[in-house]
Amino acid sequence: MAITHNLGFPRIGSQRELKFALENYWGGRLTADELEITAADLRRRHWQQQAELDFAPVGDFSLYDQVLDMSVTVGNLPARATDKDGSALDAYFRAARGRGASDSPCCATAAGEMTKWFDTNYHYIVPELSADTRFELNSERLLSQLAEAREHGVNAKPVLIGPVTYLWLGKTSDGSNRLDLLERLLPVYSQLLEALADAGADWVQIDEPALVTDLDANWRYAFNLAYHQLKANRPKLLLATYFGELRDNLQLACELPVAGLHIDAVSAPAEVSRVADWLPSHKVLSLGVVNGRNIWKSDLLDLLDRLEPLNEKLEERLWLAPSCSLLHVPVDLQRETELDIDIRSWLAFAVQKLHEVHILARALNEGRDSVRTELTGNQQALQSRRNSNRVTNPEVRKAAAAITPELGRRQSGYSDRIATQRQALKLPAFPTTTIGSFPQTREIRQARLKYRKGELSAKAYTEQMQAEIAHCIKEQEQLGLDVLVHGEPERNDMVEYFGEQLDGYTFTRFGWVQSYGSRCVKPPILFGDIHRPNAMTVEWTRHAQSLTDKPVKGMLTGPVTILNWSFVRDDQPRKDSCLQLALAIREEVQDLEKAGVNIIQIDEAALREGLPLRQSDWANYLDWAINSFRIAANGVADSTQIHTHMCYSEFNDIIEAIARMDADVITIETSRSDMELLDAFRNFEYPNDIGPGVYDIHSPNIPDKAHIINLMTLAAERIPAERLWINPDCGLKTRKWEEVTPALETMVAAARELRA
Ligand code: GLN
Ligand code: ZN
Repeated sequence: MAITHNLGFPRIGSQRELKFALENYWGGRLTADELEITAADLRRRHWQQQAELDFAPVGDFSLYDQVLDMSVTVGNLPARATDKDGSALDAYFRAARGRGASDSPCCATAAGEMTKWFDTNYHYIVPELSADTRFELNSERLLSQLAEAREHGVNAKPVLIGPVTYLWLGKTSDGSNRLDLLERLLPVYSQLLEALADAGADWVQIDEPALVTDLDANWRYAFNLAYHQLKANRPKLLLATYFGELRDNLQLACELPVAGLHIDAVSAPAEVSRVADWLPSHKVLSLGVVNGRNIWKSDLLDLLDRLEPLNEKLEERLWLAPSCSLLHVPVDLQRETELDIDIRSWLAFAVQKLHEVHILARALNEGRDSVRTELTGNQQALQSRRNSNRVTNPEVRKAAAAITPELGRRQSGYSDRIATQRQALKLPAFPTTTIGSFPQTREIRQARLKYRKGELSAKAYTEQMQAEIAHCIKEQEQLGLDVLVHGEPERNDMVEYFGEQLDGYTFTRFGWVQSYGSRCVKPPILFGDIHRPNAMTVEWTRHAQSLTDKPVKGMLTGPVTILNWSFVRDDQPRKDSCLQLALAIREEVQDLEKAGVNIIQIDEAALREGLPLRQSDWANYLDWAINSFRIAANGVADSTQIHTHMCYSEFNDIIEAIARMDADVITIETSRSDMELLDAFRNFEYPNDIGPGVYDIHSPNIPDKAHIINLMTLAAERIPAERLWINPDCGLKTRKWEEVTPALETMVAAARELRA
């Protein structure tokens, strides 16, 4: 008897109900009770949508973030969030975002630090730890959700983040070792497990994804210590790992004294049989066989071929589930009525994925014939995808196969190129520029919306955008910037804009995935070979250039960033899709060059986000990622200046790879951690031109001129001044003109003083 379960369900709601309820609550338009009603409705609906399963998760629902919830459960919210008046809910939101709903603007505190949840695009609130941290159980949320689930007749399996991963996710502020806190933390977990058992929980899922990362002996020891202590508690523990291979932690994971182990059979297929062999014979093996992070249908027959022998061997000890929490996929494909009917038949969102798990279990438990229709339908869909001429484009395949190392090489080295470029461009020392976008005003967004709805003609839309570009150019000239941009008014999003113009991409209407808190993204779907039927940016850039004598920088998104912010096809390696994107961007670069654009920026904001969890896999990723960038960028003459831009401050550990991109100029976000940038320069001599972001665009504050001068002076101690540029640290689209104009005035004034 294979048992089915789920690790977690998306909580935002198929119509983003939670997002809107939260934002209304924060805005004072909804009471706490009303917010709670929406939350309870969503939980009930989500349990209904999981009714086919033997166990449904409980406690996976969160108003903001599951890691922050765990911080509440173990009594570890920062004091600045809890020491003010107001409800527990206010304290929770204060920890998340600096403000409770009832707080007046004056009383904002620092929001919790946010960082990426493993290698996904979900962001969690980092637990704040120090040698003084004390823990105290607050089981209220879990117990009430458990009671609620049982009332609805759900066979509930509470979900927790395990104690070791909880500490692993945290940061200490005082230089102390987070692992020293384990002994203080474990009694709270023991109490919690007992409380859950008292409330009727037979099984508890305890997530320890830290087991798929590189762990040293201390962390491994912590796992042993923790689970030997927790084994005395009553509920049976299903230890859940996901997002990667266990590798050198495989034996450890198999031997920990728990009742069951969940592994991610999608990202670690080769480990399934090893784990099945290692796992002591009394333990449950839960296999995450349906990809919880992507949106494609599974190959059910292939899975059954692999599962049937395991089912014979494990019998009732085999559990089936998606590979990880379904938090990372949209809720329900049913709503995508406008999607191309073929493509739609290839997809599965959360609800469909759970149905796949159910079908697999039935086939194992009652024989394949019991689900014959479903299996046939599944095979037909996969067939149609394999044979679709929308997926395969022979021309693109030929071009990708013909890629040679020459394609990634510039004609000359940096020093020759830069000499040619300097002569042609005649820029002053410390040239000033921006990262590309200027404020996306209400009018711009409305025009785009109307155009999409057909309420604005193409001609009227184009004219309005051209007027916006003209305005941007005039402002930049008045400010005295040296390298101008067109301002990107026509772009909704730096990936979607390009995806929409490339064959091989499609878009959902409701495919929202939580990024953090109430923020959702709707990643485009890369389903087929990538082909660029027409130039994508040339007309806008050409128009901008026609309005000024100053150089206008063309603005593109790079292949790695387009890839990392999309749902990517699973029928070929990511690397191959990235190379196809690179070829398409390369054509755009060459078209821009032909149109007389002498400076072209290719943004790789998300390059670092694609780094694999294991350090030993970094080199391989960086090799193909950097190679893709170089193919996109390097088909130009020496006189064409290639810029790139990156959006993160921690780049010390990959600065050599960044140098290998060999962009003539890189602009990089550094202002939120100016010292880190300088550290990187101490250890590595960055060879090309660089523009360290001199002010933080995420804040409405106007930068301080002296601070900019100071930062650049420090930078000039490490990098020759003739290679330094001056720019903000990212695009300005989220800011208002009232903020942008004085900020850039200050920046230009600082540059003038530096030149003098
Ligand atoms: N060119 C883009 C902009 O200015 C870059 C955005 C980003 O780095 N995230 O908006
Ligand atoms: Zn940026």
